[in-house]
Amino acid sequence: MAYKERTESDELKNFRSLDNRMILPSKEKQIYSNIEKGYEGEVKFDKYTEGLNSSKFLVLNDLQLETNSTSFQIDSFIISQGTHFPCELKNFEGDFYYKSDQFFAMNNTEIQNPLDQIKRSGTLMRQVLQKIKYSTSLKSNVFFVNPTFTLYQAPLEKQIIYPTQLAKFFEELNARTSTLTDDHFKLAEYLVKEHKPGSPYSRLPPYTYENLKKGITCRSCYSFSVKAGETKIVCNVCGCMENVEDGILRSIRELQLLFPNIKITTNLIFEWCKVIGSRKQIRRILKIHFNAFRRGKYTYYE
Ligand SMILES: [Zn+2]
Repeated sequence: MAYKERTESDELKNFRSLDNRMILPSKEKQIYSNIEKGYEGEVKFDKYTEGLNSSKFLVLNDLQLETNSTSFQIDSFIISQGTHFPCELKNFEGDFYYKSDQFFAMNNTEIQNPLDQIKRSGTLMRQVLQKIKYSTSLKSNVFFVNPTFTLYQAPLEKQIIYPTQLAKFFEELNARTSTLTDDHFKLAEYLVKEHKPGSPYSRLPPYTYENLKKGITCRSCYSFSVKAGETKIVCNVCGCMENVEDGILRSIRELQLLFPNIKITTNLIFEWCKVIGSRKQIRRILKIHFNAFRRGKYTYYE
């Protein structure tokens, strides 16, 4: 198990929810698609780090750090005796080419060079470690995790790990001798404490409660085509089933993440969930899981 697990970010959840409930402008649609694809690649990569011997390695996923007012991100950070490994993950699909130290897609669009990215994050990580007088050697790599990825005119660059090399890389890493000490755990604890996730709202397009499509969505395929019975919600598309109570709570959390200041009332949730037959059922669930406050003739829940 990773010392710091990777979870879906609130930003990804918000994008997913908005993409389902409104038409995203093309710029945001592109951002959303990149985040979703990136996360998919990270999950793929995590299968390899999960295979590392946990008495020799500490794995910290998705670190967002800051040094001298500059923020940077490390997709995975592997701590081992002697050397620590910042990992930059790329889920690029299809064919790319490399020319004069630059990355291009086949349609000649320039892509930010991941080798520049690891150089920058490596430098900033060193600053973070210097600040706490922690000395170690860092070895940064870019991992291309998508099996369809091809890089033409690839540089003879040892810092790039291609999809076909992933298994071997981790086999060799796992074979290293490494003994974890208190210092390693202290460092891991420090980095987790310093981790500051970015705002889950800054890249979202403008949206309002009124312009979003209402309804409970399937928890697995996000379809609105669900049937709610007395106790279960059943998806008409994928057949997935969920307890009504769980489904309602999940929808409330989705709403609260999109609108952190919204006042939760029975009527609001009744409208938001749409397919739930009775206000009574919603009131009962709100009473169990939230604290009720009265303001005038309204009851709201926090
Ligand atoms: Zn479904």
